Amino acid sequence: MTDAAYHRPATLDAALVLKAREPTARYVAGGTDLWVQARKRKAAPVPLISLQNIAELRGISVGDKGLRIGATTPLSDLLRHELVRAELPALAMALGTLASQQIRNVATVAGNLCNASPAADTAPPLLVHDASVELRGASGARTVSLASFLVGPGKTTLAPGELLAAIVVPRPAKGTKSAFLRQGRVAMDLSLASVAALVCIEDDRQAPVVRLAAGAVGPVPMRLPKAEAALAGRPLDAAALVAAAEVAADEVAPITDLRASAGYRRRLVRVLCERALRLAVGDKEIHHEVHHAG
Ligand SMILES: Cc1cc2nc3c(=O)[nH]c(=O)nc-3n(C[C@H](O)[C@H](O)[C@H](O)COP(=O)(O)OP(=O)(O)OC[C@H]3O[C@@H](n4cnc5c(N)ncnc54)[C@H](O)[C@@H]3O)c2cc1C
Repeated sequence: MTDAAYHRPATLDAALVLKAREPTARYVAGGTDLWVQARKRKAAPVPLISLQNIAELRGISVGDKGLRIGATTPLSDLLRHELVRAELPALAMALGTLASQQIRNVATVAGNLCNASPAADTAPPLLVHDASVELRGASGARTVSLASFLVGPGKTTLAPGELLAAIVVPRPAKGTKSAFLRQGRVAMDLSLASVAALVCIEDDRQAPVVRLAAGAVGPVPMRLPKAEAALAGRPLDAAALVAAAEVAADEVAPITDLRASAGYRRRLVRVLCERALRLAVGDKEIHHEVHHAG
């Protein structure tokens, strides 16, 4: 990577102009995915456009639309944020188990999503929290749902030259709880399967809202509409959660690879889904089990 240009634009517009001038250039945020990929492929160096000096891409703010996470905000800043810990527990749980403290100090959610790994750990929590992404390109700004942003392994709806400026997460309604669980082979390994669950019980007269998403068990991290439907209009008792977890295991589309078989991944989804749902409905026993296992 030593021979190619390394640009550090100070504004978003300057970054877009550089990218238009050098279409083979890559944007870089924390570089934790990019450097590993460059080393593995021994690829010819490409010009890089660092986003780190662009003030408008950094930081976390809270507005009408919810929590806005600027593209270069390190995961560790997000994990420390009071609103994330209080209102988006699934995201906090994913951030807390992602890689290591050193990596979290530089890696970003935007990089995690733009890299578009099926195993990206921030995606399932952001999917159940109905996040969207703000994209900026030469022709202006647009906002798309995260579910439509992720289209395949390594593929997003980013148009040529476009960059992800921020992730927006609406503030959950009162009575919402969420949880995220993952299973890897060893510490610092990608997830073999992951599940996020969100349950909103506003009051006893209304049906609870349940959202589920899974990672590493399909071409993209995905919502699980069939498992969600299995819980619609049912009391969220132990039998209902087990039944929904079974639907989830059928609904996912895992592959067998060097790291795990498709069958094992389905079994993981069943177990993780039931446990994540139990956490999200506030089952005290599972809180104890997860706390003591981790
Ligand atoms: C040891 C190790 C352990 C890891 N463990 C995990 C794990 O447990 N779970 C997990 O999900 N990931 C893990 N990762 C992967 C990685 O750390 C994360 O995906 C991280 O969030 C990537 O963020 P980044 O800012 O470093 O991205 P970068 O490497 O800077 O960028 C990643 C990709 O996104 C593009 N990009 C970055 N920002 C933008 C933007 N704003 N707009 C458009 N394109 C952009 C880049 O061009 C590149 O293609 C691990 C990595 C390592 C090295």
